[in-house]
Amino acid sequence: MFIDSHAHLEGPQYPGDFQGILQRAQEAGVERLLAIGIGSDAGALSGAVRIAELYDWVYAGVGIHPHEAHLANEQVYGEIRRIARHPKVIAIGEIGLDYYYDHSPRDVQRRVFTRQLGIARDLGLPVVIHTRDAEEDTLDILLKEWRTSKLGGILHCFTGSLRMAQAVAEMGFMISFSGILTFKKSEALREVARALPNERLLIETDAPYLAPEPYRGKVNEPAYVAETARVLAEVKGLTLEDIARITRFNFNRFFKLPDPHLRQRTVTYKIRHSLYVNLTTRCTADCVFCARLVDPMVSGYYLGLKEDEEPSAEEILGEIGDPSGYEEIVFCGYGEPTLRLDVIKEVAREVKARGGRTRIDTIGHANLIYKRNVVPELVGLIDHVSISLNAADAEKYEKLCRTEFPGEAFAGMLEFARECVQRLPRVTMSVVRVPGLDVEACRGIAREVGATFRIREYDLVG
Ligand code: SF4
Ligand SMILES: [Zn+2]
Ligand SMILES: [Zn+2]
Repeated sequence: MFIDSHAHLEGPQYPGDFQGILQRAQEAGVERLLAIGIGSDAGALSGAVRIAELYDWVYAGVGIHPHEAHLANEQVYGEIRRIARHPKVIAIGEIGLDYYYDHSPRDVQRRVFTRQLGIARDLGLPVVIHTRDAEEDTLDILLKEWRTSKLGGILHCFTGSLRMAQAVAEMGFMISFSGILTFKKSEALREVARALPNERLLIETDAPYLAPEPYRGKVNEPAYVAETARVLAEVKGLTLEDIARITRFNFNRFFKLPDPHLRQRTVTYKIRHSLYVNLTTRCTADCVFCARLVDPMVSGYYLGLKEDEEPSAEEILGEIGDPSGYEEIVFCGYGEPTLRLDVIKEVAREVKARGGRTRIDTIGHANLIYKRNVVPELVGLIDHVSISLNAADAEKYEKLCRTEFPGEAFAGMLEFARECVQRLPRVTMSVVRVPGLDVEACRGIAREVGATFRIREYDLVG
């Protein structure tokens, strides 16, 4: 279920051996782990690889930690190159800068960090970065030496600013949160996590250090990664299962590892406490921010559907089973669900009969598609309609949404929203926060229509 993106499995802190640690990790649901091999000689550097050779679910990183930068020399670099060619080594790291402890002179740290970025680039491997009290210099070096590499990396045990996280995210970095996220005084860090897009998030233990609450002060181990996941779920308003799935997907995708969980065809998928129905990838719009055609991934689910793969009402109902256990059954997909109005009606009728609640997430073009007012057909079947408002006027709307109905889409969507407000129990209008959007004007429109207003962050489809 979980992936620990950063752990040290050997060291004097561990009272037992790594077998016991890994067994407890598996029992706690850890299914993949990146073991970090650091040191200044072949034995220490290859420690993680030796373990990765024994366990197919353990992968390894190798590098000189900034603490030991003063021990780096050509022979050590040679060892790193040799070890990194092992098929289980998937990253160079951890490498970076630590100006908090200053165990190595800062100029030496910078030189050794830069040199290892060069090695990673030569080998085509991403990097795992350790940075502490050295944000500016870390960013400077990455911008100079790494930005053009396209290999990306992980900023591990992240404790920095949102600006830093966003700057490295633009370079293809993942941001990994450790047990520090669970500490009482980490409110600022939790704010940063809240602001980051889900697709950038990873979790780690950095075992044996930094045990999360409620184990704080004890020797940390990968089994405790669930505690960080639990807090991250709270921060993001998601379930533990959601965070486990999202961070697992992010890790596997980042390292291009096979993902046994990824379905090739998704009919229904759970997010928070609702069940979503993937009706279609076709749409009446082509929004500039939409990735449905190039990368139809939502919260760790693959939603791509060819037209002949679109599910029937029968198949959907089979997957839903008893709908009363879900908050809502949501007709959605990475496309426009009302293109399949008949299926929505058939499924919704049955869901209502079985005691469930229903919602449609739509761009609001249904009346334009069918050239009639379809809202009366939804009465008694749909409890909640969530409509993408997207912009405050027709011109901006068309520019952003590039619809099949230029000239009439914006007015048609508003008309549809008004009809829904009149006839259905609950109507929400939402915007995706994109640069230049007049949020207040949109809020005014929703108020005038009589709908609830909601702002969706860029990555939160569904
Ligand atoms: S309406 Fe939704 S699915 Fe359609 S293009 Fe826009 S964002 Fe994508
Ligand atoms: Zn570190
Ligand atoms: Zn570490």
